[in-house]
Amino acid sequence: MRRWSGKKGELMRRKIIAGNWKMNLNYREAEILVKDILKRVGGIQDVEIVLCPTFTSLYSVHEMLRGTSVMLGAQNMHWEKKGAYTGEISANMLLTLGCQFVILGHSERRTFFHETDENVARKVRSALGSGLIPIVCVGETRAEREGGVTEKVVESQVRGAFAGLKPEEFKDTVLAYEPVWAIGTGLNATAEQAQAVHGYIRNLLSELFGEKTAESVRIQYGGSMKPSNARELLTQPDIDGGLIGGASLEAESFEGIIRAAQ
Ligand code: PEP
Repeated sequence: MRRWSGKKGELMRRKIIAGNWKMNLNYREAEILVKDILKRVGGIQDVEIVLCPTFTSLYSVHEMLRGTSVMLGAQNMHWEKKGAYTGEISANMLLTLGCQFVILGHSERRTFFHETDENVARKVRSALGSGLIPIVCVGETRAEREGGVTEKVVESQVRGAFAGLKPEEFKDTVLAYEPVWAIGTGLNATAEQAQAVHGYIRNLLSELFGEKTAESVRIQYGGSMKPSNARELLTQPDIDGGLIGGASLEAESFEGIIRAAQ
């Protein structure tokens, strides 16, 4: 997979736009949306596009994405390979369904399913070990932002996610900075607020794991991104794409964000 774009000597991280459909759309509805998305952006090569439907739609969406440049991701997985974990799905099961990506540590999983940094780290190790690219979500709550601890929270989530890994093992990982107060609220972080945290994360990666890793890990912004604010956010130097919830459920708005990324 090409993660870089541009001419030799002036390589840029390639933008990556992922749609997180959450618990929306049955497989028939998913097929209708995918058809529309492919019609609009199926030929785009300069932005990586990833669709993350529910587990129940992965198979049919994968069949539709065959032969296109649009990629498939899941929204979660278990860290174990198999066994007595009722209701869970392993990395290998996702791989055999054609997934290349998996969202890990989304704030909804941390909040509603009590996922800890340690759980996220286990999942990251398992995903990477199986050849899936994790999209690791980090971000502060409103109370944490107002309490002035945004950087502290994000730092411990980033450290936690990569605990025990060597930089070369996770250089292709995608991080998603998603301020919890911006998710599904219609209230996005301003480009300045987002860039400040993205720049902080980039420096942190450099300090912890070296400049090469910091330059190769892509950092998406997530939280009420839509066509009207996408361009401003996506032109910030450390914002390498978007993780899109609500606006990815409509082909027109998802296309608008992808065009802004171009
Ligand atoms: C998300 O859930 O990852 C997200 C960013 O949602 P929304 O775009 O709806 O805020």
